[in-house]
Amino acid sequence: MPIRLFDSLARETRELKPSHADGVFRFYNCGPTVYAPAHIGNFRTFVVNDVIRRLLELEFGPDKVKHVRNLTDVDDKTIRRSRDEKRPLAEVTKQWTDKFHADCTALNCLPPHVEPTATGHIVEQVDMIDVLMKKGNAYRAPDGSVYFKVSSFSEYGKLSRVKERELQLGSSFATKPQAADADEKEDVSDFALWKAHKDDDGENAWESPWGRGRPGWHIECSAMSKKHLGDTIDLHSGGVDLLFPHHENEIAQSECCNGTQFAHHWYHSEHLLVDGKKMSKSLGNLYTLDDLKARRFSPQTVRYTLLMGHPRKQLNFTFDSLYSAESALGKLNAFNDKVSAIYGMSLRVPPSNKFDAVLDALRDDLNFPSALGELFVAIKQIESNFSEFSCADFFAFKQAVTSVLGFSLPGIAQEVPPDIITALAEKRWAAKKAKDFKGADALRAELTAAGWSMLDGKDGYKLEPLKK
Ligand code: AMP
Ligand code: ZN
Repeated sequence: MPIRLFDSLARETRELKPSHADGVFRFYNCGPTVYAPAHIGNFRTFVVNDVIRRLLELEFGPDKVKHVRNLTDVDDKTIRRSRDEKRPLAEVTKQWTDKFHADCTALNCLPPHVEPTATGHIVEQVDMIDVLMKKGNAYRAPDGSVYFKVSSFSEYGKLSRVKERELQLGSSFATKPQAADADEKEDVSDFALWKAHKDDDGENAWESPWGRGRPGWHIECSAMSKKHLGDTIDLHSGGVDLLFPHHENEIAQSECCNGTQFAHHWYHSEHLLVDGKKMSKSLGNLYTLDDLKARRFSPQTVRYTLLMGHPRKQLNFTFDSLYSAESALGKLNAFNDKVSAIYGMSLRVPPSNKFDAVLDALRDDLNFPSALGELFVAIKQIESNFSEFSCADFFAFKQAVTSVLGFSLPGIAQEVPPDIITALAEKRWAAKKAKDFKGADALRAELTAAGWSMLDGKDGYKLEPLKK
């Protein structure tokens, strides 16, 4: 079953597939703004995207997925924080980048293959703005800022349908409160590509053909995605609040600059709420991973909680949901201890199909509630007839739970065989399969002499250290 995901632009569920001849699936995910700790609402989005990444790797192969997630390390908020704390911008953003990485590791989120920063890509952003200027999609305002001319892109609004929506209301689609730069723009709906330096920006300014300043927020993702993934990517994702204007503006900039389709697929996950309101820094209703760790909830419990709801539906965060997650994880850990005691040191065999329903639920538009439900159905079935449990089932369990859902299950401590022992075991297994029983016996003797016993199963084997 292929991976199918709802596409916010096409407004339908569509199959994910690589579009480039090299078969590499190009995946761009908008990253955090690094001026404070990310809250678990932010992490809902990042954990959902982590499962997408893992699922893509299962589908296309680990070396056939390229995942890029940026760091917004210059914008109004980061600059304000650096000014308030009287610390250089780079010091503030490094502090919060390090914290973000530590939290991602604790939550078992795979690091992206490339994690570009906005300040590290000023040249690329300037180059892109330059092309937009030359093509007539941008103009320089009297103060030295550069704006994207929304009226120059007839497809503007195709992602958010903002024009249709506003036309129905009988007004211009730029009905937002007048922006601070309203006087500089030709039209209120135009947006900044380059912001002319202001005193409040302090030393955070770069040279450009239009004068000193800094890039606008939207252009960073267009430029970094172009640099690291090329003009057309296979999947672009982020939280639903980024759909408009951020992603709408990214499409306008990229498609006007590159003259080709920007992303084949757009995916937006819904928000984590607290008491019916979006968890956000501005509302102050947030919990960080540290807040929950201080209440003795493990990061794995938080990860499980964030995966309990359908990602395209809002999820209300409660302490009850943390307790349910903790209890479910307890069951998973107990099952894992039991099965890894039997098969923990087995060498890899192809996974059985016992957990296929879990993977299929994930492939079906990331249906997390159904996947977690199927997981416990499979475990229950195995428990009811445990003698049938095989090494292949063990790997299917591990694949679904640790590789794709991304839970880290510590399992009971195992002594890992050194490579040389594994190599001997592989040789013996091959000899046995080739019915070279004499050779297999000789290899077993070598293993025994080295202090290891090899227990043969139906479809694999297990290595155990001999009792001293
Ligand atoms: P930011 O650091 O504010 O740029 O946000 C990083 C990511 O978190 C973006 O993809 C946002 O859409 C997402 N996000 C922000 N608040 C929430 C929330 N309450 N629930 C889920 N995702 C969120
Ligand atoms: Zn972005």
